[in-house]
Amino acid sequence: MTSDCLFCKITAREIPAQVVYEDGDTLAFLDINPINPGHTLVIPKEHSKDIFDIDEKNWAAVMRTSRIVAHALEKALKTDGINLGMNNRAGAGQMIFHAHVHVMPRTVGDPHRPWPGRPYAEGEFVAMGEKLRAALK
Ligand code: AMP
Ligand code: ZN
Repeated sequence: MTSDCLFCKITAREIPAQVVYEDGDTLAFLDINPINPGHTLVIPKEHSKDIFDIDEKNWAAVMRTSRIVAHALEKALKTDGINLGMNNRAGAGQMIFHAHVHVMPRTVGDPHRPWPGRPYAEGEFVAMGEKLRAALK
């Protein structure tokens, strides 16, 4: 528990939330500003800041719960699809610095295309592959 963390306070039930699922390691609750109704946040109960900070056990637990929530959203809302998202660090738009995965129900025709892709410039595709393979060695 980190005393000034909003999501730690939700975990401790010091702040109200629409909790939809809980297990020993994780909590899932409705986002108060959903991109679509049913948009749910999945968090580890143990505080970590982001993808760089969370340990493997808690990350695996968050992924497990995200899948469970995705199935529940499909069942409850007959959603057309689900996006999983995670903002890590301020540079990526993170606003609450307790790791969380967004599980977002989608409807055909809704305006939330996740991101505009653009192709690599000549030669940069292969160079990027090489750079990342080197970082993963
Ligand atoms: P981000 O850190 O950018 O991934 O976004 C944080 C998310 O938390 C936003 O989508 C907010 O709508 C959501 N949020 C902020 N406060 C609460 C709260 N008290 N209960 C539920 N969701 C919240
Ligand atoms: Zn926290």
